[in-house]
Parts: sequence; structure tokens; C-alpha cells
Amino acid sequence: MSGLLNHCILQIVLDTPLHAVFDYRWPCAAAERPQVGQLALVPFGRREVAGLIVGVADSSDVPEDKLKDALAVRSQLSPLSPQWLALAGFAADYYQRPLGEVALPGLPKNTRLPTTVALDRALKKLAKLDTAHDGTPLNVPALNPAQQQAADAIGGAQGYLPTLLHGVTGSGKTEVYLQACAQVLAREPDGQILILVPEINLTPQLEGNIRARFPGVMLATLHSSLSEGERMLHWLAAHQGRARIVLGTRLAILASLPALKLIVIDEEHDPSYKQQEGLRYSARDLAVWRARQLDIPIVLGSATPSLESWQHAQSGRYRLLTLRERAVQNAVLPRISLLDMERDKPQDGLTSALVAALRLRMERGEQSLLFLNRRGYAPVICCEACGWISNCHRCTAYMVLHRPEHRLRCHHCSLEMRIPRHCPDCGNVDLQPLGRGTQRVEEGLQQLFPDARILRIDADSTRRKGSAQAAFDSVHRGEVDILIGTQMVAKGHDFKNLTLVGILNPDTALFSQDYRASERLFAQLMQVAGRAGRAGQSAGGSVSEVLIQTRYPQHPLYGSVVRHDYDNFATALLEERQQAALPPFLYQALLRAEAPELATAVEFLTQARDLLAHPDVTLHDPIPMSMTRVHNVDRAQLLLEAASRPLLQAFLKEWLHLLRTVKTRVKWSLEVDPVDI
Ligand code: ADP
Ligand code: ZN
Ligand code: ZN
Repeated sequence: MSGLLNHCILQIVLDTPLHAVFDYRWPCAAAERPQVGQLALVPFGRREVAGLIVGVADSSDVPEDKLKDALAVRSQLSPLSPQWLALAGFAADYYQRPLGEVALPGLPKNTRLPTTVALDRALKKLAKLDTAHDGTPLNVPALNPAQQQAADAIGGAQGYLPTLLHGVTGSGKTEVYLQACAQVLAREPDGQILILVPEINLTPQLEGNIRARFPGVMLATLHSSLSEGERMLHWLAAHQGRARIVLGTRLAILASLPALKLIVIDEEHDPSYKQQEGLRYSARDLAVWRARQLDIPIVLGSATPSLESWQHAQSGRYRLLTLRERAVQNAVLPRISLLDMERDKPQDGLTSALVAALRLRMERGEQSLLFLNRRGYAPVICCEACGWISNCHRCTAYMVLHRPEHRLRCHHCSLEMRIPRHCPDCGNVDLQPLGRGTQRVEEGLQQLFPDARILRIDADSTRRKGSAQAAFDSVHRGEVDILIGTQMVAKGHDFKNLTLVGILNPDTALFSQDYRASERLFAQLMQVAGRAGRAGQSAGGSVSEVLIQTRYPQHPLYGSVVRHDYDNFATALLEERQQAALPPFLYQALLRAEAPELATAVEFLTQARDLLAHPDVTLHDPIPMSMTRVHNVDRAQLLLEAASRPLLQAFLKEWLHLLRTVKTRVKWSLEVDPVDI
């Protein structure tokens, strides 16, 4: 009973699946109590782990002899703000996860190690960093009237105001963001801006633009390819308020930004804003929540807005700003045409019309881009004698032929093997590739155009760190005549000398079961088409063009693409969704279950479905996922739907409470607002 030493109780959340706050004792004088938002090192089981202090109390309900002492408080790191804690709290609540599982992985690993060596080193390094210099931004283009109006409307906005910036590809949305940012930075001497982009590959281009435009401003970047040391440093720069612009991918939405004044979300429709494992959050939705919480403006930009955002703009919840024309003098939108593959039968995947168009670009010294969203050489190989095909024996999927690497690869599990010399079933030595991936198109092109400089960009060709950037740089430097690539090349890039885009095989998405497939296909086609003709009239004087090879030239989706008609396409699609009662007119959650046997997963989901009922929540029958088996695990899903978001949220809370008490060996997870169902 020592009266000299005071204790307090630290209430701490940890990165565990348990929905719990843990109490720890911490010896301290009343005046020196740790603060909420600080990190502490605590014993947990047999480990020492870092946790986040969410409360400081005088006493605990835990019996004295069970109470453990915290080991250290990370006082060198200033506390996370109440606003940040509220953001993590909202995300945890909305996506039905424990707070600790949201908050802690949101922090750099180096803040959470048992020792603080890396943290201390980063703090020292940051203290020495000096960004003060008087560079003058060069080449600030004069905005056109529509851009100027948008930049002023965004840069001058006060308070919570979400803006949808709908601008055709090449309309100069980036320039609008930059000049709006300049206004905010000038008005708010300590203010911070968060800019989100969908892909790591797009950060270097924008990073360069930002650095050139704001020479004296510290910029931090946050994305998954930073080293832990870099991530720590950049995160700290944001957390201390020193980085005034933070540029990142979806994970940056959880950055600590104590003086945040503006959020920019570029290509807001992009599926990459949805995290597809662990905490399956939508960075776009969290960004809008964050803007409202902080009462600051947010701008969502796209040439093909998501139907959710378009619907908000139509209903007046978001302000709509439109850029109808391309920004560069003489740069008009490309002419888009459909090539009927029934009439003009493709050879090596290319119709004669597309080959002629490629040849014309070669002669004029202009660049072409061929888009095929399928990597590898061929999606499958088969034996024509007995019908054997290269299935993955661990997944409901084919083994894809990668000919340059002499391998078959499953793109869903890590399985890899040498290409069999003969059919494993009948011994036939004549195994044939079926279908076409980027490698095969590349091979065909090399034969057709032996003098062309051909570059393939896909996940296989860019495995090494930095190789994607090097590849894009060489396109920008004009060292490439024909670029062939997957969706990696479709987004955002400002290729100046590209005047032809060929789209090889988009038809499969027309008949997908996924109700979002047509929205995605439209966006993807407009994005990739938007890479053409960005720099104005080419030297050769040709109008830039986009050629889409299809077997269904009459399909209305292609009609909208050809007319560059997002508005009517989106309006029609929204009507369809309303009639069919689909999002955004309906709210969904998806319970997934994984087990070695499908029956076990379905059985668990059936049990889950019967736990709780509500007249306004529909629980559908459990079904196998469309790709049922991955890496020897079978997967099934149960869809929940309701017309009201709060009602669905309330139901999920109660339901999950019951579900967590179910003893099962099935691995399950819940996704709120699922996109792939
Ligand atoms: P978006 O993001 O809308 O597709 P970008 O921001 O990439 O378009 O701009 C397309 C091109 O137009 C870029 O090369 C950019 O430098 C140029 N640009 C933008 N605004 C202007 C302007 N006001 N005057 C001249 N060029 C501009
Ligand atoms: Zn065979
Ligand atoms: Zn597999």
C-alpha cells in the first residue's frame, strides 16, 4: 500500500480479432498521465505488442492480481488526434471490425515494434529535413474558363462541400486540382491537403507535377511499395503536420493529418479504392466521411464517375462541375469506331483494319497502344486428341500459359509448373494454346512489324521494383512504337505522342453475371480510349482514333462509348438499377465462408442465415462463390440486402454479435458494401 506511487489504468486496443478494450496498469503521477491517442507497449499473451490508448481511468473492473503493467508509453510520438480516432472508430463500426484491427494496421509498422529504434531514427531524420527554399513554379498554364471556374469553386469552398468534377479524359482535371490546391495552401498557412490516386504507378507522374508546382512545400507519399523506413518517415511528416501535401493510394485515407483542409480523389470511380482483403473498406467513402467530420471540401474527379457519385450529383448531395472539352489547344476527343470481328476476321488477334491503322502510325512516327486485359500467352492449353485442359488442381481456374518463361501458372494461387511436353492423360505431344493474352499478341506483332519497337506492360513484365516506371518513361521518351498492355496502361497516363488505341477483346464483360460489369467496362473503355490524342493535332495531321474489336457492334454499351456519352449511359444504367432494386438504391453486405469442403461452408452460412430475422432485411440463400475453389479452399457466400443503410447497420451489429458466439472451424468474414458478388 504505497501512497507515494500513483497508478492509472490505460484502456488499450490491440491488433487482434477480439472486440475488446484491454486494461493495463501504469505507474505515474496524476500530472503525468498518458493521453488518449498515444501508443503503449504492453504484454499480451507471451508477446509484447504495441497498442493504442483509447481511455485513461482511475480504476479497472479487472481484479488487481489479474491486471498487468504496461511496459512503456511511446511519448516521443505525439498523440493521434480525437478526429483521427473518430475516423478509425467510424471505420471499425461501419465495417464491423474491432477498433484495434482498424487503427493499428493503419499506423506504420515501425511505430509498433517492441523497440523504438526505428521510430527515433525517423524522428531525427525528419527534424533535420529542410524543405525551405525559394524555387519558383515554372510553366503554370493559364486555365481555360471551365477549368478556372472549377478550380475557384473547389479552392474557394469553405466547409463540407463534396464536388463531383466530371471532366472528359484530357480535360485537365489535374491542373484544376493543382490550382485549387494552390489556393488552399495560400489561404491556410498550416493547412494540409490529401490527394488520393488509384494506382501506385500513377503517383510518380503526379508527384513530379506537384513538386514542380509547389517547390517549397513538403510532400509526403504513402503507398504500398514504400519501404518501412520510408513509410515511417512520410507518415510522421504527415502526422506532425509538416507535409502539407500527402499523395497516396487508398491506404493513405487512414493517414494522420492534423490540419487537413482539402481532399482530392482522382479517378474516383476506380475499383482500386476498394480494399479487397482484411478490412474491406472503400477509401472513397471514408474520404467523404472524413471531409464531413472535419467540415472541409472534397473533390471527386473522373471522366466516368461511379454510379454512386453520379446519383449523389443528380440528387444534389454533391455539387456537379463539368469539363466538356480537352484542355490542350486542338486536342479533340479521339474518334471511336467499332470493328466487326465477324466480318473482318482477326489474325493473331488483330483485324486487318487494326493492322492497317497500326501501319499508318508506324509510317507517321506516332505511337499506338493495344489494350488487352489478359496477361500471359494464352489463358489455357488443351489436348485436341482427348479434350484435356490445363486446370489448376487447387482452384476453379485454368493454368495460364506463360510461354517466354516456359511455365504454366495459376493466377489465383501460387501454383507453377513447366509446360508439359505431352498430354498428361493420353500422351499426345501436340498441346495447343487456346485464346490469347498479351504475350501472344506481342509475339504476333513482332512478326507483323519486325522493325517496330514493341513494349509489353503488364504485371509479368513489371515484377521488378521500378520496372513499371522505367517502362512508362521509355514510352514518354518516344522509344516505343507500339505499346501492348493490360489495365496497367489504361489509367491516367498522359502519353503525348499516342494517336491510336486498339481494344482487342472487350466482349466477355458484356455478358458477365456481375451487375457492375457494364459500368466497369464502360469506364475502362473510356479511360483507355482517353489515352489517345492528348497532345493535339499530330505532326502527321491525323485525327487520333480508337478502334474496338467486337463481335457485337450493335450492343448499346458500345453505342454510348462511340458517342462519348457518359451522361445518357449513366442515366439509363441508374434507371435499370432502380428498377432491379440494386445498389445504389439498395444496401448490401456479404458474409463469406471458407472451408476445405464446400458443404461445410454452406452449412455454416445456412446456420448464420437462420440466427436472426428482420422483416426489412433480406438474407438470401447461401451459394458457392463464382470461383468456388482457390488454393484447395472452397468458398461460399451469403448476401444480405436492405433498403436502408442504418437499418442494415443495426441488423448487422446484432447478427454478428450472435454469429461470434457460434463455434465453428469455418473461416468467415463480413464485407459491407461489397463490390464483387
Ligand atoms: P485529365 O486528368 O482530365 O485526363 P490532364 O490533367 O492529364 O487531364 O491534362 C491533359 C493534358 O492537358 C496535360 O498534358 C496537361 O498538361 C494539359 N493541360 C491541362 N490544362 C491545360 C491548360 N489550361 N492549357 C494547356 N494545357 C493544359
Ligand atoms: Zn490428351
Ligand atoms: Zn490455383
